[in-house]
Amino acid sequence: MSIQGPRGTMPVVLLKEGSSENKGREAQKNNIAAAKIIAEIVHSSLGPRGMDKMLVDSLGDVTITNDGATILKEIDVQHPAAKMLVEISKTTDSEVGDGTTSAVILAGALLENAESLINQDIHPTIIVDGYRKASKKVLQYLKDIAEEVSANDKSTLLKIAKTSMQTKLVRKESDYLSNLIVSAVVSVAEKETGKFTVDQDDVKVEKKAGGSMKDSVLIEGIVLDKEVVHSGMPKKIAEAKIALINTALEIDKTEFDAKINISNPQQMKTFLDEENRMLKNMVDKVIASGANVMLCQKGIDDMSQHYLAKAGILSVRRVKESDMAKLAKATGGRIVTNLDDLFEKDLGSAQLVEERKIEEDRWVFVEGCKNPKSVTLLLRGGSQRVVDEVERSVHDAIMVVKDVMENPSIVAGGGAPEIYAATKLRSWAKSLEGREQLAVEKFADSLEEIPLTLSENAGMDPIDTLTNLRSRQLKGEKWTGIDVMRAKLGNMKTHDIIEPLAVKNQIVSAATEAACMILRIDDVISIAKSAGPPGGPEGGMPGMGGMGGMPGMGGMGGMPGMGDMGMGEM
Ligand code: ADP
Ligand code: MG
Repeated sequence: MSIQGPRGTMPVVLLKEGSSENKGREAQKNNIAAAKIIAEIVHSSLGPRGMDKMLVDSLGDVTITNDGATILKEIDVQHPAAKMLVEISKTTDSEVGDGTTSAVILAGALLENAESLINQDIHPTIIVDGYRKASKKVLQYLKDIAEEVSANDKSTLLKIAKTSMQTKLVRKESDYLSNLIVSAVVSVAEKETGKFTVDQDDVKVEKKAGGSMKDSVLIEGIVLDKEVVHSGMPKKIAEAKIALINTALEIDKTEFDAKINISNPQQMKTFLDEENRMLKNMVDKVIASGANVMLCQKGIDDMSQHYLAKAGILSVRRVKESDMAKLAKATGGRIVTNLDDLFEKDLGSAQLVEERKIEEDRWVFVEGCKNPKSVTLLLRGGSQRVVDEVERSVHDAIMVVKDVMENPSIVAGGGAPEIYAATKLRSWAKSLEGREQLAVEKFADSLEEIPLTLSENAGMDPIDTLTNLRSRQLKGEKWTGIDVMRAKLGNMKTHDIIEPLAVKNQIVSAATEAACMILRIDDVISIAKSAGPPGGPEGGMPGMGGMGGMPGMGGMGGMPGMGDMGMGEM
């Protein structure tokens, strides 16, 4: 590609052949268009009346989901600006768990509204400044209306978990599941200097297709997807004393080829006897510790299995490293790497260790641990796709409970805080000058996209709903929001629709950051890949030819109804 040099001089060749550049307005328009498409994709899935998406990947695997982060992860977007929106759904997912759809919708709205300002010749820098200021104000407004709660108040935590599950396939069983989730999170929470912290990894989530969602259970301990290693061992041990071993009960094979010359049967017998003696020696150490269960991260030789079975010790081999750490937390045992160091005080305890049949598999349950700092949720559901979606929704619910325990402030759901902040923002905007004022007003409009979408997806009249909601909020009814299930306005607190303040904060900050970053770009230079013919499909600038030329959304191959959006190249 050549770029024209100063007037009258030769063009200066700057970029590799096949590279392209997209500048100024055009670059901005292009980026905004791509981001808008991403927001449009998740738009219809917001809220309790939101629809699900069926995603078909390039191998034909089907995912059915309502989760914003999952939808965007699966569609494998290529456009650089669109990717930034996917990024914010990912970070929102890992930071606070919930609110991924809202973050993307808000970012899309911020960009769409910025576009109308750009069309009025307002410079993006002014818009960015206005947006940043507005976002700071909104965080303050949210703080103002947030209500402090007590961090381990079960009834609040249940409502929080239920609200997040309201919008998902699991809604019907949300009463049942939220009980399991809250108990799980509360039991692994650690309290230090008056504050709770929760490591969500301490709630192990296992899933198995079959049964119904109501067959899901919370196990105060750990479930291992492994069998008892030897058929002669007991399958059930009450009052288990558990040895956690991170060494093989096998004879080490030498690294190099060694030959042992045996010239008579006696020598052969001596050799094998010696091997057996060594294995028995290892098992004896386990027996001496008083353990009646042994969970081993490494292998267990056939002969060791035989001795363990004879001693009545239930044993499992090749337990995952991550599970070993959880077992230690759950049972209070210590992971021992040298059998000589194994003593009674190192053993963990559980009321029951039992191998059970789950559908076609046999799994070992370590349960009834006292004060377990690691627990397992075993999720069930009619089919693989159902349990997969149950798992995603349970993830969101675990995260919102964690959010509130760590930062015990809540706000209403149903679009109430968004409308409140928008109303406040508009009156504050009046104190600003000229163009910045316009940007702040657009920020307020963008916030209203959330309640607007909620009402639209519920089949309500969005304009009427919004005007009514605004006037009720202006009267100071900060808990009034859209009661989506009854398709009217209502007091969200009495309907138990509450959300963590942390989630709302994250939505606003992440969306503002992404929108501002995209707005500040006025030059997109895409360097051709070295391989492949120049100007080929790989060489071109992503998304240059209007949306029709946007390459890559390839992962959506076969996604019903997407073809007409012109995201091409299936
Ligand atoms: P996200 O990925 O952003 O969490 P959801 O599809 O879960 O998207 O929708 C979340 C929105 O739905 C929030 O604004 C929340 O307040 C709202 N919401 C959830 N349940 C209800 C309900 N029963 N009535 C009204 N709004 C609800
Ligand atoms: Mg949600």
